[in-house]
Amino acid sequence: MLLTLTTTHEPATDLGYLLVKHPDRVQEFDLPTGTAHVFYPEATAQRCTAALLVEVDPQRLGVGRRRAASTPESFTLGQYVNDRAYAASSLLSSALSTVFRSALRGVSRDRPELAGSAIPLSIRVPVLRCRGGADLAVRLFTPLGWTVTAAPLPLDEQHPEWGDSRYVDLCLTGTVRLADALNHLYVLLPVLDDAKHYWVAPDEIDKLLRAGAGWLADHPERALITRRYLAHRRALAGQAMARLAELRLADVPVPDDSVDGVTGPADGATPVADPRRASLAVRRREAVLAALAASGATRVVDLGCGGGALLTGLLADRRYTEVVGVDVSTQALTVAARRLRLDRLPQRQQDRVRLWQSALTYRDDRLRGYDAAVLMEVVEHLDPARLPALEDAVLGHARPGTLVVTTPNAEYNVRYEGLPAGRFRHPDHRFEWTRAEFAAWVDRVAADHGYTATISGVGDHDPELGHPTQLAVLTAVASRETTR
Ligand code: SAH
Repeated sequence: MLLTLTTTHEPATDLGYLLVKHPDRVQEFDLPTGTAHVFYPEATAQRCTAALLVEVDPQRLGVGRRRAASTPESFTLGQYVNDRAYAASSLLSSALSTVFRSALRGVSRDRPELAGSAIPLSIRVPVLRCRGGADLAVRLFTPLGWTVTAAPLPLDEQHPEWGDSRYVDLCLTGTVRLADALNHLYVLLPVLDDAKHYWVAPDEIDKLLRAGAGWLADHPERALITRRYLAHRRALAGQAMARLAELRLADVPVPDDSVDGVTGPADGATPVADPRRASLAVRRREAVLAALAASGATRVVDLGCGGGALLTGLLADRRYTEVVGVDVSTQALTVAARRLRLDRLPQRQQDRVRLWQSALTYRDDRLRGYDAAVLMEVVEHLDPARLPALEDAVLGHARPGTLVVTTPNAEYNVRYEGLPAGRFRHPDHRFEWTRAEFAAWVDRVAADHGYTATISGVGDHDPELGHPTQLAVLTAVASRETTR
């Protein structure tokens, strides 16, 4: 199976730097299912093409499958006689992620600026298995900025009357960041193939959301993409769609005040038309922003900022002169930087933002002295045994003037259809507190560290169960502050 990638961005041979594969060499990579070769059929300053050729070893495929499942099919001839070696499929997608790993992440040591820029690209996959027909390929790639041609291949060239096969010759052209292009392919090739046979582990959701960062949440075909990518596993697809919906609603464009000033409300308020219809994620973010505004803070740090949902809101509001996002995960910080379009912000805006990698269970001097800090949906991701370390690092050492904390209300979970009793809302949660448990924690840490606290909630209130999200605002007691 073959994929070629051409650019005319001059000097076109810079493609070699972006892919970290030298245009003058032919390179080979060993894959679990065969061998990948990378070579350049053309490499001039005006036009450069990289080719990825994957040779599948049907025997290795067969062995893997037989071990994976001893279903009757795994002993049939289909195991040895199939299209896997010739047609692009999910195997090409895994080869892409192995061979072009750093390009896929948008990282380039030698050409960092180019890696962040949209460049003219054309991509060709001459034989792609396309379940659902050529139209589907058009529907999937067009919304991402590609001009698509997907020509169905005849079953047999000698016998056109036999009609078309389920394979297409796919060409994409567009001006797209290379990393985005590779991520589109990484997700959409297996979606078009729709024949993922292996067991789909829950971490496939994270892989999908990571590769889909910045484009999947708003894709008109996101439901189909999610369903097929997760091999029609209903429960996983449901979870993925819920997380996408949160991203979609939480994504607020960052106003660019260097241009003509038509950037919405002057105070940067977030445009949520009807608060009752906004998702819980949006209402939570609004509530945190309101608490911060009420505190009078201007220098704010978002602890465990994740993909930057709150940072976009903070940055959009000019009262905040300094906005810091902190997370232990570089992956999360990369997504946040992308969502904030950090590389494209005018210098004045860039100077207001910082993204730092730090673990909240260790004291970090950089975090000291901020007016306010936020722990939005973070504490429940920590092992309970590590909470005292976080309390010390945040309230004992960083000591923000105000600390806003949100966390799920475990009592409310019975209201979530499809969430079995005793299950958490997110697979990475280590615990979820009842209202009494949260209140006890807030009262204790406030007393231990010289803060006063108020507790409220976010989302539709249930008279028996409370709010879906719990929210606490801790305020430093001034006298304590001055004695330190
Ligand atoms: N506040 C964000 C993200 C919540 S998810 C939002 O509401 O959208 C929890 C985040 O906390 C993740 O991004 C995770 O990487 C981060 N996190 C978990 N443990 C952490 C730790 N010990 N130090 C720093 N960040 C941590």
